[in-house]
Amino acid sequence: MNQRTPLIAGNWKMYKTIGQATDAARRLVDAAGGVTHTEVMIAPAFTALSAVSAILADSDIYMGAQNMFWASEGAFTGEISASMLTDVGCRHVIIGHSERRHLFGESDDLIAQKVKAALDADLIPVLCVGETDSERETKKTFSILDKQVKSGLKGLILEAGREPVIAYEPVWAIGTGKTAQPGQVDEVHSYLRDLIARQFGEAIAGTIRILYGGSVKPENISVLMSLQDVDGALVGGASLDPEIFTRIINF
Ligand code: PEP
Repeated sequence: MNQRTPLIAGNWKMYKTIGQATDAARRLVDAAGGVTHTEVMIAPAFTALSAVSAILADSDIYMGAQNMFWASEGAFTGEISASMLTDVGCRHVIIGHSERRHLFGESDDLIAQKVKAALDADLIPVLCVGETDSERETKKTFSILDKQVKSGLKGLILEAGREPVIAYEPVWAIGTGKTAQPGQVDEVHSYLRDLIARQFGEAIAGTIRILYGGSVKPENISVLMSLQDVDGALVGGASLDPEIFTRIINF
């Protein structure tokens, strides 16, 4: 492991009513609320943020949101702003998740606007990047990642201590049970860190956290965390059950 504090983040997607979310958050606080070897974040659905925030308040577990819009306020029906998220107690926000890119047509430009707005509001964006199956098969993995990272962070001046988090999530590994092989993860994470070094300098590249996401489970987290450039995980399905998520947190 390296010197960066890891982050294990749970993306609850469109699951859990307020009652189910608060129950899961309580069980997580009981099992892992005082965790110190890693940072932990859960991202419930918008409707549960307020109630979950109250439960996490006296614990070391952070709360994030799964999406936001870039404008600070206005006539944007159905959207939510960065300051609304900080107001409800979020510290992080997931941006550019592959489900947002592929199901809701989010472009690199829109994602870049969201990343900037999150940083401006003192939220930590978790910028998701990753190639599809066919892009990997046609050897486009690195050009796709290059484009997604460069455009996602376009025009930003990053400060140490206020860097975004990057999550490498190969689309073919999300929710499929197919985890990327350690060699594939290692190769991509080291590529991403070099890319950040070229764009933002060695200091930021040394402190920015790059998470892996895609069918992370208790059975594969230790191997993933042993890789030099893996600084944590973004966990979907396996974060929904507090017992299973706690086993991942205790990698
Ligand atoms: C995700 O939704 O970001 C994710 C990685 O999902 P899963 O862990 O279920 O593959």
